[in-house]
Amino acid sequence: ATVEAASPAGSGRRRVLMFPLPFQGHLTPMLQLAGALHARGGSGGLLGVTVFHAAFNAPDPARHAAAGFRFVPVGEGVPSGDLLPSGSDADFAGALLRINDRLREPFRDRLRQVLAEEEGGGAAACLVVDSNLRGMQLVAEELGVPTLVLRTGAAACLVAYMAFPALCDKGLLPPPSQDKAQLDMPLDELTPLRLGDMVFSPTTTHANMARCLRDLLDAARSSSGVILNTFQDLESSDLQKITNGLGVPMYTVGPLHKISSGTESSLLAQDQTCLEWLDKQEADSVLYVSLGSLASMDEKELLETAWGLANSQRPFLWVIRHNMVKSSHEVSLPDGFEEATRGRGMVVPWAPQQEVLAHHAIGGFWTHNGWNSTLESICEGVPMICRPQFADQMINMRYVQEVWKIGFELEGELERGKIEMAITKLLCTEEGRQMRQRAKDVRDKAVKCIEEEGSSKSAIELLLKRIMSF
Ligand code: UDP
Repeated sequence: ATVEAASPAGSGRRRVLMFPLPFQGHLTPMLQLAGALHARGGSGGLLGVTVFHAAFNAPDPARHAAAGFRFVPVGEGVPSGDLLPSGSDADFAGALLRINDRLREPFRDRLRQVLAEEEGGGAAACLVVDSNLRGMQLVAEELGVPTLVLRTGAAACLVAYMAFPALCDKGLLPPPSQDKAQLDMPLDELTPLRLGDMVFSPTTTHANMARCLRDLLDAARSSSGVILNTFQDLESSDLQKITNGLGVPMYTVGPLHKISSGTESSLLAQDQTCLEWLDKQEADSVLYVSLGSLASMDEKELLETAWGLANSQRPFLWVIRHNMVKSSHEVSLPDGFEEATRGRGMVVPWAPQQEVLAHHAIGGFWTHNGWNSTLESICEGVPMICRPQFADQMINMRYVQEVWKIGFELEGELERGKIEMAITKLLCTEEGRQMRQRAKDVRDKAVKCIEEEGSSKSAIELLLKRIMSF
């Protein structure tokens, strides 16, 4: 495929290049960052945006036409079947390593081409690269393009990853056994984390995980700055640890979805009819259930979840993604489920999640604790039932449960009685009400950060200045 021509530009105009990791939870914040920078620097026509992206899980350029972003696919024809991790047993680290290996060469060609084309027409200021794409950063370095690194996860998670080598040196990692007691061992240096939270997934080898994290930290340390999608008042002490530990400038610019809309970056079509359905429900009454874009469950878990939701007698909005149920092409809900939940339950293949969470009818969120989902929930003051599966999700869950106290883990095997109890606890008890109140307090802090003089708004300004200075 050919790369479309660069748009003409006036003098003083710069372009920021971006390369997101090709997963929903990474694409969205990168494009939101692009939107935020463009909105601030774009009014004077000063900042253009070129988005490099993997040919699979590609964003739709038409949906960003208004902003004038340029999209450049990388690695068409590269086999992508093993680049998409899915499910709690997925080899997440292996997929990251393969993505870097396979896209690096094609990216070099594309970047060369784009740099030549865009010269004089808004020269490239820098590349903002996902922290998991060390391979692409090395290509940029080689071609003389400065880089900034976007971390799409929590500050807490980066602090944990920074501690990973020391935990290996101490002999704590890899965990000496898969024993539950062993995995539940508290990590004093990383309270409230436990040893098991430091393992991506049961099928990720320690060697792959260590390589991924070494690359990630190398990317951060050799960049001209790290951009984080979180906010000062949420994670101030972890942000301080990162500043002390990385030695590069930091830009804490989140929650990005509140600064710049991200709905246009959804890879799946969002079912808007659920918003009309929510309009008919009472305030704080509905449980929203979603596992994000990659996590999955098996057929038995689906069955238990269905009956847990049905038996709870509470209204619910449940996202069942087309590939959410392992080893099953057609998802079938149990006989009798529809009758049992008629009028009080809605199932959709993909939801406009940010609008759903912002809806006054939502009283709780059963989440897998991907960072975007966690942050989106926090920003709407919605307390959580946490069911983390892999990567950073366990870390996020610990903070939700132990630090912010705005949710709790639904642990162990999924079973309908346990699910029913968890839903009742969140939606119908004083304990749940207190979690909701704390969540609303944290939401108010998020609102402050993105006000005109707020910490995140100011960080965006600083970041923009930095970009224009390259
Ligand atoms: N999302 C959505 N509709 C859904 C479920 C999820 O738009 O039905 C969005 C959600 O708002 C979030 C992203 O998908 O921005 C998922 O990112 P997250 O980091 O939570 O999880 P991941 O998919 O990376 O595991």
